[in-house]
Amino acid sequence: MNILILGSGGREHALAWATLQNPKCDKLIVAPGNAGIEQIAECARLDIEDGNAVAEFAGENAIDLVIIGPEAPLAAGVADRLRDAGFAVFGPSAAAARLEASKSFTKEICDAAQAPTAAYGHFTEAEAAKAHVRAEGAPIVVKADGLAAGKGVIIAETIEEACAAIDDMFGGSFGSAGAEVVIEEFMTGEEASFFVLVDGETCQPVGTAQDHKRVGEGDTGPNTGGMGAYSPAPVMTPEVTQRALDEIVRPTMAEMARRGTPYQGVLYVGLMIEDGAPRLVEYNVRFGDPECQVLMMRLGAQALDLMHAAAEGRLAEAQVTWADDHAMTVVLAAQGYPGAYEKGSVIRGLDALTEDSFHMTFHAGTTAKDGAVTASGGRVLNCTARGATLAEAQERAYALVDAIDWPEGFCRRDIGWRAL
Ligand code: ATP
Repeated sequence: MNILILGSGGREHALAWATLQNPKCDKLIVAPGNAGIEQIAECARLDIEDGNAVAEFAGENAIDLVIIGPEAPLAAGVADRLRDAGFAVFGPSAAAARLEASKSFTKEICDAAQAPTAAYGHFTEAEAAKAHVRAEGAPIVVKADGLAAGKGVIIAETIEEACAAIDDMFGGSFGSAGAEVVIEEFMTGEEASFFVLVDGETCQPVGTAQDHKRVGEGDTGPNTGGMGAYSPAPVMTPEVTQRALDEIVRPTMAEMARRGTPYQGVLYVGLMIEDGAPRLVEYNVRFGDPECQVLMMRLGAQALDLMHAAAEGRLAEAQVTWADDHAMTVVLAAQGYPGAYEKGSVIRGLDALTEDSFHMTFHAGTTAKDGAVTASGGRVLNCTARGATLAEAQERAYALVDAIDWPEGFCRRDIGWRAL
């Protein structure tokens, strides 16, 4: 089987690594890839948000399956264009990708499916939104409707703060993403992510995870794209997982199919769990990064079979073999991240790192230059390990971190603290 993966982050390196574990993979191309992916697969230059260009490239390279990593090509309709051209695609249509691209759309689907989530109001002008906030009281959550790279969500402690956020959003500080605003009840509880493959009809869980969004130890400081993750999430007991599947995921997927926009790909289900009851925080229409790294480490070769089955509508026959294991990934970032940071520093020691089914260092923002690997992004490397316990996975992941010589980088030393 010839496979094309779209994307260039640690998530795509992990997808490529798992794909290559499977003997059914004859050829793997990643577009555009990065310095780490280049070491294991062919990388191609391609505008991955241009559906026609991707379809043409897939045709020229006799591709049997396209796996789409990030949300931008999904929102741009690349999966639609590829399906129209007859390719098997792992990733939802633009219409189904609205589950991530529009918060008010997701709320409306949840209403129709009676899926538990925060109570909300949806507004297109500031005065009505502020009146709603005054009526509900604080704390309350103000969200720009569209994609704002995780920055369009304000947890307001006071009514004044919420009103200021509303003015900001309608004032254009999030561009067109803030033209509509969703105001939500503030939910308390513990957050976890649940990952489910969907083939249009059948839902197949593939694991749970928790991540650390804040840059500082003890979960302090500004938000980032994620400084580390571990799987499984202890709060996702078999009972909570079953409830999330029965009460949230299956009804919303059935509603999507009923509307003529069935979902195909991975559904990232962000949950808030309180007293054993899960409620939906958000859907994302792709794997999380860095959560994908720990999921791929645990799934290994079967990940390809599962993604292929989802793309071809065969998930009902698919089976997941679970190991009783744990995985952790620690993100190495450039000093200064998530603020301004330098690019171009050299990373040493990568060649000597252990790489096997228990240890992998996935690359995110790296570039190969004159035989050296240099940092070219904010989040740069993902030291990922698997073990019989979370403590063992943590010890192995930090052993990888400590073997890397990169004075311009940093990581959090406490990934997994809540679970440990
Ligand atoms: P990201 O890209 O970071 O996932 P997003 O823009 O998609 O963010 P959400 O996932 O909706 O936004 O919200 C971001 C975070 O804000 C959540 O992970 C959660 O911690 C918090 N949050 C969002 N909605 C609520 C809510 N109703 N109650 C409590 N916390 C919330």
